[in-house]
Amino acid sequence: MSKPSVITIQPDSLWQITLRFPPIIGVPTNCWLWNGGDGLTLIDCGCPNHAEEIVKVSREFGEIKRVVITHAHPDHAGAASTISRALNIPVYAHESEIDFLRAKKTIHDEKGSLICKCVMWLAHSAGLTVPKVENVSALTDNQEIEGLNILHTPGHTPGSISLFAPSARTLFCGDNLDNLSGKPALGQLWCTLDESTRNSSLGHYDKVDANRLLAGHGKPYESDTLRTELQRLVSGK
Ligand SMILES: [Zn+2]
Repeated sequence: MSKPSVITIQPDSLWQITLRFPPIIGVPTNCWLWNGGDGLTLIDCGCPNHAEEIVKVSREFGEIKRVVITHAHPDHAGAASTISRALNIPVYAHESEIDFLRAKKTIHDEKGSLICKCVMWLAHSAGLTVPKVENVSALTDNQEIEGLNILHTPGHTPGSISLFAPSARTLFCGDNLDNLSGKPALGQLWCTLDESTRNSSLGHYDKVDANRLLAGHGKPYESDTLRTELQRLVSGK
């Protein structure tokens, strides 16, 4: 078991756990612990084999009471089933995403980019799957949970969500964007099901007054001009 790295983003309320994505050496995948007042909310949870290390490192910061999934890719939702069962806690995902967690649908059978569907099928065939989650509940656009505002931002997957924490001015963007190069960039197309829908979804970030971006892959990014930078990125200027 590798040791995840943990960064304190805000003492007492926000931590980033970075795990290594096993099949692709060196690729980090993030999850976060958020304290919104009623215990810890785990946002994303890595691959199936990351469950134990996430639970272990999180004990230092409090008790995980729920898991919220930005999207049902195996490097973000893979450990949801094990953690949910081990801690007897619910898993939340957007209403358009929960059937992937319930193992009623697979992303590679959805309509969308052929390249993405092939990559997802290959990953699935190689055993990198999202094990069925029993205790799963649906989130809807504009819902609030533990101080996190849910934004339905589809495209990367049908039920991809972003989360905005107004009290921390923090935007969790899932894989819509990444920060692997030190600057926010559009999420990779080889794992994006519907590029044009994803690009439209990014327009929702105009509504949020964030100065911190937490992407599924890469370090936290902080900037007082974040909104303008994201507008430029989305418009390609
Ligand atoms: Zn993804």
